Amino acid sequence: MNDEVLNTVIIGSGPAGLTAAIYAARAEIKPVLIAGLNPGGQLMQTTEVENFPGFPEGILGPDLMANMTKQAERFGTKIMQENVESVDFSAKPFKIKTDKAEYLTKTVILAMGAEANWLNLPNEQRLRGKGVSACATCDGFFFKNKEVVVAGGGDAAMEEAIFLTKYASKVTMLNRTEEFRASKIMLSRAQANPKIEFITNVQIVDVLGDAVISGVRLKDSVTGEERDFVCGGMFVAIGHSPSTKFLNGQIELDQKGYAIVKNNTESSVEGVFIAGDVADHRYRQAITAAGAGTMAALDVEKYLAHHI
Ligand code: NDP
Repeated sequence: MNDEVLNTVIIGSGPAGLTAAIYAARAEIKPVLIAGLNPGGQLMQTTEVENFPGFPEGILGPDLMANMTKQAERFGTKIMQENVESVDFSAKPFKIKTDKAEYLTKTVILAMGAEANWLNLPNEQRLRGKGVSACATCDGFFFKNKEVVVAGGGDAAMEEAIFLTKYASKVTMLNRTEEFRASKIMLSRAQANPKIEFITNVQIVDVLGDAVISGVRLKDSVTGEERDFVCGGMFVAIGHSPSTKFLNGQIELDQKGYAIVKNNTESSVEGVFIAGDVADHRYRQAITAAGAGTMAALDVEKYLAHHI
């Protein structure tokens, strides 16, 4: 282990982590950013990003992340292609152990993000980006005049379905039970939308199609009977999982594993700050994560000025 005590270590290389790095580096804090197993985060899985301000023609998700990485490096961020295995926040300086090294640091910014949950169907990942998506806001536009299905029955599924009716000719919601988990108001809104239909007690058992999706195979939850349902898109909205496992209970998390934040950026441990989807199951946008990264870096700067 290197004895040097760093000012800040940022864990995560999505929009939250990289934006925090740009701000921290420009404040001459000399941040070290640990990029993780999937550098760039969720945007690496998307194609065109059309809602990030500043790119009127849109930009490919991986290109946006490459630009943010370059910008963070330009001001001196050290980016480590390593994966965090464990942390020790019980004493200062904090310890961070990766698969290759161990770091000591005065502050930490947790920006590991979250991942959409998938149904884990045999052909789901193969057809991802070819009609299968977990983000209507990102991809809905590409489904103009198509008939699509939405998997899930929570608030997010209702919201995705309503959003999709702007583009799709018909949206069919597929819920695995009779009851919807969504709030009454969200369910009523979806039910009132003439473009949305509902099928309950149904499980999706596979996605069909060669080059692109052509349908889904459904299984009746009650009778077990299977049938194919033709559609031009499948949106999965069955929740997200934050990447907080390695924290091993060292900061406060909510029931679903999201970090609990107070005063915009603070975790339950002084000196450990939080940014982006790791604490946000509501907005989940690249731009909101980037904004949260900015706030975390500014708060780290202030913290270091008062605690050294
Ligand atoms: P939820 O956990 O609320 O709902 C998940 C849904 O997915 C449930 O219908 C669940 O079914 C279903 N599901 C889970 N796993 C599977 C599976 N393997 N196969 C089929 N269906 C499955 O997650 P959301 O993402 O909808 O919402 C997360 C939080 O964010 C909630 O607190 C929600 O209220 C909030 N939110 C609020 C919004 C708003 O107010 N505008 C918008 C979006 C989210 P089952 O019920 O059978 O378990």
